[in-house]
Parts: sequence; C-alpha cells; structure tokens
Amino acid sequence: MRLISLEINGFKSFAQKTKIEFMPGMTGIVGPNGSGKSNIIEAVRWVMGEQSAKDLRGDRMADVIFSGSSTRKSLNRAEVSITFDNSDHYINSDFNEIRVTRQLYRSGESQYMINNQECRLKDVTELFMDSGLGRESFSIISQGRVEEIFNGKPADRRKVIEEVAGVSKYKKNKDTAEKRLNDTNDNLNRVNDILAELE
Ligand code: ATP
Repeated sequence: MRLISLEINGFKSFAQKTKIEFMPGMTGIVGPNGSGKSNIIEAVRWVMGEQSAKDLRGDRMADVIFSGSSTRKSLNRAEVSITFDNSDHYINSDFNEIRVTRQLYRSGESQYMINNQECRLKDVTELFMDSGLGRESFSIISQGRVEEIFNGKPADRRKVIEEVAGVSKYKKNKDTAEKRLNDTNDNLNRVNDILAELE
C-alpha cells in the first residue's frame, strides 16, 4: 500500500485545484511559514473523515473552505481526494487502487466517495480502520501528539494500542451487537409485561 496522490480543491489556502503526486520513497514538503504545509496534512486528515473542526484549527467545519484572499474571492466548496495503491490489498478492499473523496459546501451539504461511488462516513472510517491509516491512527503524528500520548491516561493509551493491534474494529462491532442485544431484551421485557397484563 502506498500513497499515490492528494488532490486539493478549495480546501483552506488551496483555492486552486492542486495535485500532489507522491513518488516511491520519502517525500518532504518545504515552504515558508504560512505557505500551507500544515494545510496539506490537514487535507489528508479531513478526507479520511476528521470530524473535529477544532483539530483542523477552525471553529466550524465550514472554516476549511477557502475563505478568500486579497486577490481571490471565497469559494463555496472544498474537495479533497486521496489515492492509494492497494495492489497488495493491505487495505481490506478488492480494489487495487483506492480513491477516497470528501466534499463540503458552505450550505453544510457534504459527501464522501470511495472510487467515485457515493458512500457514508462510516464506510470511509471502516475502510481505514485497522489499516493504521485512520484519522485517529499513528500514520499522522502532529506536533504535540507524541507528548499527548506519553502524558495521556492509561485508558487513552490503550485505545492507541488497540488501533495499532487491529482490535478496535472488533470492539466497535461488539459494542454495536451489545446495544442491539440490550434493545432486544428491552423489547422482550415489554412484550412480557403486555402478556402478563392480558393473562
Ligand atoms: P508554518 O511553517 O508556519 O507552520 P505552514 O506552511 O504549515 O506554516 P499553514 O498553517 O498550513 O502554513 O497555512 C496557514 C495559511 O493558510 C494562513 O495564511 C491562513 O490564512 C491560510 N488559511 C487557513 N485556512 C484558510 C481558509 N479557509 N481560506 C483561506 N486561507 C486559509
């Protein structure tokens, strides 16, 4: 699995459609202060499903949309696509190449796509879950995150280890199954109450 490209259009300082192609090996992005290096990393986090505007240095999610400059007026839509070579099927999918897209309009309307097929955030999250690529994963380590992990509570650190070890997906499935079981038990109790009343 390898990151092939990142396309950014209308996201933060990237008013113009910009495609960054990643060659095999290591890639470094350099530029003066404020030129948009961190915005590139945030675009990666955003397309993989980041839900916290604060973690993207904004107040509201719409703050990721290009807000205008001295030479350009603001835009109404942000779009980011990320493409991975998945010929080794490291990501649990039959596709040899995976392209995930996220769009957001100022109206609040938003959309996710996997290989140009509309999907839910849940599908994107599950696609990356346990691949080590998720938005909460170790694949992106921002400034201060290392310290945060070391100084974090044991329970929070455990969550990190679970994501790396690949058990978080099963834990989530177990939680969903347990909730369904509880709901079913509640319904059963209600039916029993009604039956008792009728008897
Ligand atoms: P540094 O080296 O100082 O960390 P950087 O290269 O990482 O800087 P970023 O923090 O990625 O730079 O970019 C900051 C720039 O992005 C600022 O000029 C800011 O005005 C601009 N910016 C952020 N959000 C938006 C937005 N929604 N619309 C337009 N420009 C934006």
